[in-house]
Amino acid sequence: MAEDLPGRSTEAIPDFAEYRGLWVYVQHRRGEAAPVSWQLLGVARQMAQQIGVPVAAAVLGHNVRHLADDAIKYGADAVYLIDDPVLADYRTQAYAHGMAALIHKHKPEVVLYGSTIHGRDVAGAVATQVGTGLAADATELSIEEEGHLLHASRPDFGGKLMSTILCKRHRPQMATCRPGVFPTPLADPERTGEIITEKLGLREEQVDTQVLEFIPEPHQVDLSNADLIISGGRGLGGPKAFEMLFELADAAQGVVGASRGAVMAGWIPYQHQVGQTGQTVRPRVYVACGISGAIQHMVGMQDSDVIIAINSDANAPIFRSADYGVVGDMFQIIPALTRHLRAFSTEKRINGPANPAPDGSPEQR
Ligand code: FAD
Repeated sequence: MAEDLPGRSTEAIPDFAEYRGLWVYVQHRRGEAAPVSWQLLGVARQMAQQIGVPVAAAVLGHNVRHLADDAIKYGADAVYLIDDPVLADYRTQAYAHGMAALIHKHKPEVVLYGSTIHGRDVAGAVATQVGTGLAADATELSIEEEGHLLHASRPDFGGKLMSTILCKRHRPQMATCRPGVFPTPLADPERTGEIITEKLGLREEQVDTQVLEFIPEPHQVDLSNADLIISGGRGLGGPKAFEMLFELADAAQGVVGASRGAVMAGWIPYQHQVGQTGQTVRPRVYVACGISGAIQHMVGMQDSDVIIAINSDANAPIFRSADYGVVGDMFQIIPALTRHLRAFSTEKRINGPANPAPDGSPEQR
């Protein structure tokens, strides 16, 4: 019998009637929101409408009132705001303390976090403090109308299986969710909502860590928000060849991504990695150059609007998912593409748009 299996509890499921509403933790760096926060508000709104409960955002930081306003525009009915100088820089202890206090007091039934370094860090600490579970790295979310049980699904065993994680015995139900998986909803400047201000209840001298200096990374890449990603794989043969991709990305106003093969070889930093253990992206155009198309890569980019693959092997698996495939040597194709794009933009600058709109206004693309 299922009840007799080791680890299966036969205890009755507690009554969670006092827990209500879906929350999103608004991740930001010094007041600049991570897009995943708005993406999660979009999916939370859909689920909340389905079960008839409100959506709220939790905003913690210093001088972050504008984020509370933005959260309402992106779909929150209410925002729980803790604005305190102790929260000026992200520190696990202070942020988890504030978030746990909000949860204890207001009792949401679900809390979603971005599956970023920051989101994973704070969510784990909060889960420990409030005594609940945490589903990590969800790529699909749904909620049961009866009982409001959250289904947080994620690929497992190298992408071969999907696991669905349920949290039946504890509240809130919490999950970290991959950036780029859910679309960003349109912000509605007319939306209104309530902002509830709370105190942090923690003094600077009670925090064990101190931020001495903030040094931004020199080459930040934002793959999750990019419209065009040009990704390189092991077919590039070495780090030098990535310059060719950076040139194409520069000419086409895109950013450079990579397969894990290229990252593991040390040719490009991890922050460029796309895939199961890298970032999930959904650009308008994804160009895979010298990437074979392993499932672990595909799960990170398969929702791109258009996939273009350049590969010298006509049987490479990537061609099965590509909308356009170019069989050939990328060392010939990519520089030629870059040259054409540069020539095209120079010509456009000198002669104006090739097909001006009938009213003479600039060409819309
Ligand atoms: P390869 O598979 O070696 O492919 C290189 C391709 O380049 C070949 O198809 C070849 O035909 C082509 N090529 C060679 N020369 C040229 C040329 N001159 N012109 C055009 N094409 C050329 N991988 C990821 O990408 N992201 C992940 O997040 C990820 N996570 C993983 C997690 C786990 C648990 C595991 C087990 C694996 C993971 N992997 C991930 C690794 C994945 O399985 C593959 O090994 C990896 O994606 C292969 O990288 P690649 O396509 O660059 O290299």
